[in-house]
Amino acid sequence: MITALVVGIAAALPAMVPAIAPPPKPRLVVVITVDQLRPDYLERYGAQLRGGLAMLLKQGAVFTDAYQDHAITETAPGHSTILSGRWPAHTGISRNLAGVQDSSAPLIGVQGQGASPARLRGTEFFDWLKAAEPGARALSVSGKDRGAILPIGRAKEQVYWYVGGVFTTSRYYADTVPLWVRVFNGQRVPFRAAGTEWRLLLPERDYPEPDSVPYENQGRDVVFPHRLPSDSGQAALAFVATPTMDSLTLALALEGTRALRLGARGATDLLAVSLSATDYIGHAFGPDSREIHDQVLRIDQYLGRFFEQLFVRYGSNSVLIVLTADHGVTPFPERSRALGRSGAVRVVPDSIFQSVNAALDRRAGGGGWLQFESGMLLLPGRTELAAQDVNVDSVIADVATRLRALPGVARVDRAADLATADSSDPVVRRWRHQVSSDMGVELVVTLKPFSIWGYAGVPIAMHGQPSDLDAHVPLVFWGSGVRRGVYRTRVRTVDIAPTLARWLDLTPAEPLDGRVLTEVSP
Ligand SMILES: [Zn+2]
Repeated sequence: MITALVVGIAAALPAMVPAIAPPPKPRLVVVITVDQLRPDYLERYGAQLRGGLAMLLKQGAVFTDAYQDHAITETAPGHSTILSGRWPAHTGISRNLAGVQDSSAPLIGVQGQGASPARLRGTEFFDWLKAAEPGARALSVSGKDRGAILPIGRAKEQVYWYVGGVFTTSRYYADTVPLWVRVFNGQRVPFRAAGTEWRLLLPERDYPEPDSVPYENQGRDVVFPHRLPSDSGQAALAFVATPTMDSLTLALALEGTRALRLGARGATDLLAVSLSATDYIGHAFGPDSREIHDQVLRIDQYLGRFFEQLFVRYGSNSVLIVLTADHGVTPFPERSRALGRSGAVRVVPDSIFQSVNAALDRRAGGGGWLQFESGMLLLPGRTELAAQDVNVDSVIADVATRLRALPGVARVDRAADLATADSSDPVVRRWRHQVSSDMGVELVVTLKPFSIWGYAGVPIAMHGQPSDLDAHVPLVFWGSGVRRGVYRTRVRTVDIAPTLARWLDLTPAEPLDGRVLTEVSP
């Protein structure tokens, strides 16, 4: 349906200037990741899009069958694929919990979790760009540390993310926050937003979704307007889950292009922007909410203004834009059950690991032998356990049996069996792209469609499965020389970096998992 919509819009446009070859070299490559943006949103709300999303869909190379084609569809692994061209199994960023956290790289000027790309293996697009053009620069901004850090790779460039009201960076990148960021922070926009309201962009009749849904937002503040706390500090914390967060992130990106003179020094520069608010809003209100509808309309509007201002500065022929997402999202199980999917549940397997770990502690001492994260069962101490005459394979087999018995679990695979499993199965393929042999993974657990992992009793909508709901993402290339059209070939986010490399005649510094999307080029 999205294809019909896009084709319909495109047919109504005047003919474009014919593509020329070779493609012009852009002054600025802009890679926009919208955190948790499902591609069906663009179809659902398409008739109401007038801004930046509409421009990309009408004039870009639109891939309707694009995937974050790995199993743990979380923010950190998703962001690690986009400009590396490699699966999480090869980037080393397998899950959020082993993402960018780094206590040896403290934040500058604020309290909070230190962060760096220390776990990221290998090179990314910017490294190849820099090798070819030593003067090239990168700026990356996001509401989240992982959203800002992972698209750039290990390069010590300009990388900023939002922490409690200000944008900052970590000691990995710099010793101080530069003046232009301090001046931007000095406007205190999130603090001054205290007491302001998020109201619908369009008249209420333009939103078919019910507003009052009891399971949304943990049952609190479920209807419009949503008011930020009157305390400025509290408002700055809550600000990340409002559309204005994305507007602010784009404003910082624009300010950075000016301050750093991106695209104005002869080299091609990289601007990466990861817009985080859709993820916070999607977790709280779900993918079928009035809130997510309004959020997508607002991103469309913000991106429209953002592109306009980039075009004023660079001219539209000098900017190459990519839009994608780090993952999708699965609806609230409560909603899925109401729609007849009676098996949709939140799966909480913790008691299995607690009881097995307690038994292993009694037998072998120590503690916390089994670690379960994001569907992977890890046993880093396998060798030590075996040395104490524990039959590890039997323990793992027992755990697998107990996991399979849980409602909502579709399958439990031994990681060691993935290499020989049926590769035409997308679940097998996505786990292979996820797990590397040196991670100490024993089992991988896949839930049934529409079931999600439960977290500490917090009833939110969730992603992280190797399902199409969580893995299907938008992918659009836009720019002078991009062959406009709707492409239905199955593509992956790992194809973005090789495609950009080809566009700029760069040589990737290592073997990639993605392919060049020849559909994009003239
Ligand atoms: Zn995310």
